[in-house]
Amino acid sequence: MKIITVEEHFMSKRVNDRIKEMMLKQGDVNLSMYNYVDNFVENSLITNLDEKRIAYMDKVGVDAQVVGYGNNPPMSISGHDAVELCRLANDELYEAIQKYPGRFYGYATIPVGEPKEAVKEIERCVKELGFVGVMVQGTYQGHFLDEKRFLPIFEKCAELDIPMYFHPGAVNDNVYNAYYKGDWSDNVTRTFSGYGLGWHYEVGVHIVRLILAGVLDRLPNLKIIIGHWGELMPYYFDRMDMGLNQFVTGLKHPISYYFKNNIYTNPSGMFFKDDMDFCLKTFGADHILWGQDFCYLNNEFVNTDNVKSFLEEYDIDKETKEKIAHGNAEKLFKI
Ligand code: CA
Repeated sequence: MKIITVEEHFMSKRVNDRIKEMMLKQGDVNLSMYNYVDNFVENSLITNLDEKRIAYMDKVGVDAQVVGYGNNPPMSISGHDAVELCRLANDELYEAIQKYPGRFYGYATIPVGEPKEAVKEIERCVKELGFVGVMVQGTYQGHFLDEKRFLPIFEKCAELDIPMYFHPGAVNDNVYNAYYKGDWSDNVTRTFSGYGLGWHYEVGVHIVRLILAGVLDRLPNLKIIIGHWGELMPYYFDRMDMGLNQFVTGLKHPISYYFKNNIYTNPSGMFFKDDMDFCLKTFGADHILWGQDFCYLNNEFVNTDNVKSFLEEYDIDKETKEKIAHGNAEKLFKI
């Protein structure tokens, strides 16, 4: 069974070093976060888009990865630097795609804070580099992307018929302090605000905000991907349809309609049976993709080497399994 995974990451060492240098100059740097990122850049396969990664993919049975930027992305900075560093990141990914055709596909990294430039970069990545989507990480400096200034980015993705991946990113300082700080260590706070829980609420809220702002009524063909089995939202489809009903929202459809029609999800390495059972019922099999979150969940504590075997062993008919393993991704990304 062919496996295409859709939430996979790389980082550019050059881009990461430049961002760190800029932030050190501005005095605006959380050194413990940087030490963590630097350590990861040095000691994982995150910057590797070469033989070592291919060997790992072969070992666990992944035929192709759709790859987007990882932590500390250049989309979060502003001005000309953001434009330049996003291009650099995209060019580096493009080289790997050229070198290993059919093994890697790319999500464009875009300078979100410069929407006109972001639109140009989407055009370049899709038309010249053959990228198949866009990935954004969280908010832009604390601003959700439903603000009107960001609309051209959505319009371009809808026009080119490529999906936008909404990946989590660092929560802003106010949220961090009010929601996640407590009588526990900084490490617990960082994890709690991030991949321990906070990230997932934030992406869910982000998508509901896009719906409430009418982005999907305006662009009914826009396709969005979210990870982590729907970022908590499927548990509230019925609740949102009841509370945030059309009388309240003025939208063309109930909230769950947009999730089931415009939005796709995948496990992001959360190979948990109950979550998959639930998402098959709520999203439906046509909107489930496969994803490992490479290489964040491959260390001494966590192991996602069962990326293929989990799906092989999952009790579902062959046709549905093939859709989830690769068919839905081939259709969505046109690959
Ligand atoms: Ca990820």
